[in-house]
Amino acid sequence: MISPVTSAVPAQTTAAANAAAASFAALVSAIDYLPDADIESIRKAYRFADQAHLGQLRKNGDPYITHPIAVAIQCAEWKLDAQALMAALMHDAMEDCGITKAELVELFGSPVAELVDGLTKLEKLEFDTREQNQAESFRKMLLAMARDVRVILIKLADRTHNMRTMGDMPRSKWERISRETLEIYAPIAHRLGLNITFRELQDLAFKHIYPWRSAVLGKAVHRSRSRRKDLLSKVKNDVQNALAEQRLSPRVHGREKTLYSIYKKMDDKHLTFAQVTDMYGFRIIFENMFECYTAMGVLHQLYKPLPGKFKDYIALPKVNGYQSIHTTLIGPFGTNVEFQLRTTSMDVVAESGVAAHWLYKAAEPGSDAAQRLGSQWLQSLLDIQHETKDAAEFWDHVKIDLFPDAIYVFTPKSKILSMPRGATVVDFAYAIHSNIGNRTVSANINGEQVPLSTEIKNGDVIEVITCSTPKPNPAWLSFVRTGRARSKIRHFLKSMAHDESLALGEKMLTQALRLEGIADMPPADTVAHGLWEKLLRFTGNRNVDELLADIGMGKRIASMVAKKLAALLSEQGVKADVVLISQARYSPQKGAISQGVVTLDGGEGGSVQFARCCHPIPGDKIVGYLGRGEGLVVHTDDCQIGKKLLYKDRERFLEVEWSEEPVRSFEVALQVTVTDGKGVLARVASTLASAGADITHVNMSDERAGHATDLRFAISVQDLGHLSDVLRALERTPSVLRAQRSRQSKDRAHL
Ligand code: MN
Repeated sequence: MISPVTSAVPAQTTAAANAAAASFAALVSAIDYLPDADIESIRKAYRFADQAHLGQLRKNGDPYITHPIAVAIQCAEWKLDAQALMAALMHDAMEDCGITKAELVELFGSPVAELVDGLTKLEKLEFDTREQNQAESFRKMLLAMARDVRVILIKLADRTHNMRTMGDMPRSKWERISRETLEIYAPIAHRLGLNITFRELQDLAFKHIYPWRSAVLGKAVHRSRSRRKDLLSKVKNDVQNALAEQRLSPRVHGREKTLYSIYKKMDDKHLTFAQVTDMYGFRIIFENMFECYTAMGVLHQLYKPLPGKFKDYIALPKVNGYQSIHTTLIGPFGTNVEFQLRTTSMDVVAESGVAAHWLYKAAEPGSDAAQRLGSQWLQSLLDIQHETKDAAEFWDHVKIDLFPDAIYVFTPKSKILSMPRGATVVDFAYAIHSNIGNRTVSANINGEQVPLSTEIKNGDVIEVITCSTPKPNPAWLSFVRTGRARSKIRHFLKSMAHDESLALGEKMLTQALRLEGIADMPPADTVAHGLWEKLLRFTGNRNVDELLADIGMGKRIASMVAKKLAALLSEQGVKADVVLISQARYSPQKGAISQGVVTLDGGEGGSVQFARCCHPIPGDKIVGYLGRGEGLVVHTDDCQIGKKLLYKDRERFLEVEWSEEPVRSFEVALQVTVTDGKGVLARVASTLASAGADITHVNMSDERAGHATDLRFAISVQDLGHLSDVLRALERTPSVLRAQRSRQSKDRAHL
């Protein structure tokens, strides 16, 4: 037995094909403003989309392709170009049919593929209209994300068609989609000056959020209109006659407020329907601007103008380019009637807004349409469009006009953040939370790893990767743009430096105390309270932490503090341990005044610096110099600069030694003499890499001896043993004549 489904297929397919063909025919007749070649491209896009959506149905049972065609027809009404129409036809193909961007680039070129991709991304955005700010951000975001204004126009066409066919959707979805339309899409349409679409979206949304209110209001308006029919036709006649006396014969259209705007007025101002008085109006379209002003004079003679209702948007256009003269007159029987007076070109801008510039583009060359497009704003956009010929750049200018200083970016969870223009990834991380900022180690933008200094752009999805321990890099201060990030980084670095100095100071004081025969630092709290108070009076510090940090930073000498502390302890009857003293004072290092040995493992942070003249590494004999306010600076014991300091400032030296297990690698300077030749640097670099030494800096000497060149590297190594392995590997590398560690400070100057 043949199943009903199988037998239904051929019939359905034929019907579907017919429906699709019929709606495509409607599109073809709407795009007669385009050249034949463009129409052929659009046909190709249609066939592609039709194939992609084959078998899919709209909720009402129509073949799916009727929807993209309807969207394209709307775009054709705005006279958009062929690329936009092709994108409109394929706008759902990527999302619903698994078509890739690469395929679209291949078949239709990159601009069309970018448009479709932009639309697909917008489709994926989700948001919550319950949060007003979020809605506002989203609106801006939406505008910003579409780097090409055509994306927004196609999106508005898409939304308009979906709203028109909302009746086919389950009722449970009406409210959410309608609110989104009301809060996001209608305002964008308004902002772009697409007034017909703006009004249509508002009324459709209103109808689906409040079906009953909308129906009641609609009936009331209808009744009122037929009641006022005679009155309005009398007004229209009077006006036309009065204008004719001045040889003016404009087009006069009746106009009504939208149901939604009447409803909103009643709701906002608590009015009854009868109290809404500006429901009726006329739009009068003239040849030129002078006629508009002449007509205004005529109208004000004919009926009394309502005070405070006159607005000259011709002299002072609205920001979206809208121009018109508005006036409300008190008509027969005291009925208020609103008039809008404008020229044909102003009317085009008023109804189609930004899209009007495509209208202009499509106009005959040599027509004076350009001159007649009144608004300065739109005109300046047209100029930009002419100069740049680049939709993306054009839209950047539009955006700057709409939203001057802010960009809008996403977290991976689609939360929207507004950032100042020029902000970097690090600014973004701190904007989320200082705890995120401090722990940032790397970042992805739109799924690709980027340097932390990367400037973020509108619409970027930014993922910040953090580590468990906070460690902001002082170098970030050179590129962050926001005050918040700057101050948070500074604050953290300051407290980190303080903590490190404090730890070092404690270590140094403990060791200095051993030299005085005191095994442990007395606890800084309860028991020895009086003791520390006396010591702090002596040093002038506010508290023990500050004293220890001062010692760590070299502002105070540990041995002097230890001596004072030992003296105070002996006043309290604590005796020095003689054995401890002799152990502690035994030192093979006669140069430095013995304060006990400070052990270093490289994890000391900012409170210990390894001198850049001699680059000490574990295994080197080292000395520590307690610089004034700069903490402990470690030199190799044969360093010339270190020796000079020792001669001048002996009491600031203290004994240091390497820990058995350093926690990181250390930088060391190398001089590698090579023969000239192609690829030598690469060979040396690969030798270093395979020896496990990271290059942190490289420089090539200008001095040449014969055919040899000196390469200077800074590399990081574990210790002296690692360094000798590296040097041996280098010596074995072809083209390398000699490799050695460089110690003189002048080497550093070259690096
Ligand atoms: Mn769609």
